[in-house]
Amino acid sequence: MTTFTPKKFRDQFPLIQNMLSSNLNLQPKKNIIYFDNAATTQKPHDVITRQVDFYEQQNANVHRASHRLSNLSTSAYEKSRQIVQIFIGANAKEEIIWTKGATESINIVTQSLARNILNVGDEIVLSVSEHHANIVPWQIVAEQTGAIIKTLPLTSDGYIDITQLDAVITQKTRFVACGHISNVLGRINPILPVIKKAKSVGAITLIDGAQAVAHINIDVKALDCDFYVFSAHKMFGPTGVGVLYGKKILLERMIPYQSGGEMIKRVSFNKKTTFNQLPFKFEAGTPNIAGVIAFGECINFLKPFLIDPASLYIQYEKTLTKYCYDALAKINEVRFVVDGLPDIGVISFSILGHHNHDISTSLDTYGIAIRSGHHCAMPLMQELAMDGCLRVSLCAYNTKQEIDVFISCLQNILADNHNSDPDLTSVPINLNNDEMLMVIDKFAKAKSWDSKHREIMLIGNNLCRLEKFHRNNDSLISGCESSAWLIVTSCEQLKYHFIGDSDAKIVRGLLFIVLSVFNNKTATEIATVDIHGYFKKLGLENHLSPSRSNGLLAIVDRIKSLVS
Ligand code: PMP
Repeated sequence: MTTFTPKKFRDQFPLIQNMLSSNLNLQPKKNIIYFDNAATTQKPHDVITRQVDFYEQQNANVHRASHRLSNLSTSAYEKSRQIVQIFIGANAKEEIIWTKGATESINIVTQSLARNILNVGDEIVLSVSEHHANIVPWQIVAEQTGAIIKTLPLTSDGYIDITQLDAVITQKTRFVACGHISNVLGRINPILPVIKKAKSVGAITLIDGAQAVAHINIDVKALDCDFYVFSAHKMFGPTGVGVLYGKKILLERMIPYQSGGEMIKRVSFNKKTTFNQLPFKFEAGTPNIAGVIAFGECINFLKPFLIDPASLYIQYEKTLTKYCYDALAKINEVRFVVDGLPDIGVISFSILGHHNHDISTSLDTYGIAIRSGHHCAMPLMQELAMDGCLRVSLCAYNTKQEIDVFISCLQNILADNHNSDPDLTSVPINLNNDEMLMVIDKFAKAKSWDSKHREIMLIGNNLCRLEKFHRNNDSLISGCESSAWLIVTSCEQLKYHFIGDSDAKIVRGLLFIVLSVFNNKTATEIATVDIHGYFKKLGLENHLSPSRSNGLLAIVDRIKSLVS
């Protein structure tokens, strides 16, 4: 497929075509709506079959053997390297290092280069909007070397503020590392002036292109950055494959921090081990061969759409973004993280009066996948004085119709017009143990996950709230995705009574469910509760995300520790 049409493009993606909400135990039966493309994209048919074909017809290790199969797989593997080289405009194949993702690529630069050249007091400059993948590796190397991290601030509309370049990037700056596009803000950062300024003080530049590669044409020669990193899975390719592009002159200077087979020239117990030439010296061990080969296929698929900024593919993504942004802007309660239309389909917002997790889990019951949380950008959240936000991330297989459905479900959720069992909704706050168990018994009978989810939200409405002064660090339960607090209110005749609270409705509902099995029990009885059996009986175990389950278990642990 070389000419883009939305329908033809969408037809390439089997999961988008075939994934029905009923497969996820959600009613009614309809296609799921996938708006979490910034986390990972779905894979086109050709990429999937290339991976399968490799295992069925070519599977052998690369570079090692002199048999035909190995030659076949090696040449397909190396062909992918060349495809990437051409795709991003690198000078040579040797400048393309295979990694398992953008994260590993950044770690190679921090540990194989920065660690060896940074000195006490040297400065590393990052932007405020970086993903943790482009923060934590720098923090580790700063600690190892005594270097200092400084940050580039943002403008009010979410771009790196280039008026601050002279103030932040100085003669002390040795590295400047920033995202081409933030995974929260969706703005194309002005990286050309950032790179130019970094070069003027002799600093080395790394650009995190994880969110850029699927949406804009990348030309590393024109950018003139020293390193450019990205992951295949965010651009329709397989997971576990990434790229570190680096200028040859720098890569040659670097000492690999991962070692083993494949990356050596000569190993001896008597002489110093010598390393293989580029790019192999950074590719220790057996790589993700099938993934790399399928990634080559993926670039062949994507490349024709990106070459021209006026291409139908790019225009279609822009149209979808504007359509979704405008529709969200019409909802009174929506607050965008930063105002103004983003440059790519990454739209972050919160909803006044609603917890982000409540909105995202409610949308999930309609089969709509969006993200909530800090999006691995906690420093940005701190800067914006937010706990987290919701993020819709679109790509070219999404449609206006999907956006219409999303907006109408969101409006339904906000209007809180779910049909529900009135018996379950009118739970008085001071229920005795038996009454609580009756509520739970009814809850257990709700069949599908969407009806269970609705009931959890409603039960949560009736949980007795904690006074503000009780919601403090002592009562806070760590390990929960949303803030949750728990205290013992009384212990009569050795039987304990607890009150819990949370800023998220869904967690208040889950707290009700947990407290109904622990309230009014002695310490010995509490210690012997089979909590997994209880969750299983209620049909909760299969539906809660691992982080939500961990949150529930953290609540249980807190209850047990309070009585022990
Ligand atoms: N940088 C950015 C901007 C990202 O969005 C991500 C992934 N969310 C990463 C880096 C890390 O990518 P990976 O997990 O594929 O290594």
